[in-house]
Amino acid sequence: MTQATFSIEFFPPKTDEGVVKLRETRKQLAQLKPKFFSVTFGAGGSTRDRTLETVLEIQGEGLAAAPHLSCIGSTRANIREILDIYKSHGIRHIVALRGDLPSGVADPGEFRYANELVEFIRQETGDWFELEVAAYPEMHPQARSYTDDLANFKRKVEAGANAAITQYFFNADAYFNFVDDCQALGIAIPIVPGIMPISNYAQLARFSAMCGADIPRWLAKKLESYYDDTASIKAFGLDFVTGMCDRLLAGGAPGLHFYTLNQAALTSALWQRLGL
Ligand code: FAD
Repeated sequence: MTQATFSIEFFPPKTDEGVVKLRETRKQLAQLKPKFFSVTFGAGGSTRDRTLETVLEIQGEGLAAAPHLSCIGSTRANIREILDIYKSHGIRHIVALRGDLPSGVADPGEFRYANELVEFIRQETGDWFELEVAAYPEMHPQARSYTDDLANFKRKVEAGANAAITQYFFNADAYFNFVDDCQALGIAIPIVPGIMPISNYAQLARFSAMCGADIPRWLAKKLESYYDDTASIKAFGLDFVTGMCDRLLAGGAPGLHFYTLNQAALTSALWQRLGL
């Protein structure tokens, strides 16, 4: 078996204060020596410059960086321009996504789905970029069915994705079941679980409802019972997520990708507890 890979995700800060804070977060997390840091890309290209600036800053610190790139609302010319910029800076790794149209925007642009973006990147740039795509063990919320979503995931792999990162989940069986289903379809790329540390229950519940991540009832009730006792939520969340990550790695997951929300503490604690 190849060695497991661990990666860390940030979003591009909006303010100067956020930039300074992210530098501090990065300094702490760089000590963990992840394979790469990825930086998200706002809906409709809204963070295009800030994503690039953050990625270049990470690269400038001698660390590996992968920008996310979403295509909805874009033209081929827009995407080509971004690929050229990334190439000119020696960036060789992209997380390729469809993204979601910002509210109030009706024009979907020239790409409908992420498989078209992957195909376009391969056409334009050959094997220059290592491409990651998104996977949904609990089904993307807009998919017609689980089977359809799986077939759509396969399209992205066939278009040239090298690996996938999943939406976060709190049920390891959903991941194992999804990986089995992918293998049955002949999908052989690494599918790395996306891990969301638990810090704020109200925010997590809101976000999970939007992105289709299930919080099992027992877990939701337990977290709810702490009310605004954040220390207990974090302590219990850490125990729970560590246990799930242990199970994922023992069950053959090819690595873990941590959604940090630009905070270092919980990801560092998880990393240490897992002995990575
Ligand atoms: P797709 O793979 O295109 O799938 C979207 C939906 O369309 C699914 O329901 C799928 O089943 C369906 N579908 C796909 N192809 C077809 C087809 N050919 N025909 C019919 N139906 C099809 N969002 C951001 O805005 N910025 C980010 O930086 C970002 N990073 C992310 C990172 C990860 C690891 C993950 C898991 C998600 C991320 N997202 C990000 C969220 C993502 O953009 C949304 O989940 C979005 O709704 C779907 O993007 P996708 O690339 O999975 O789309």
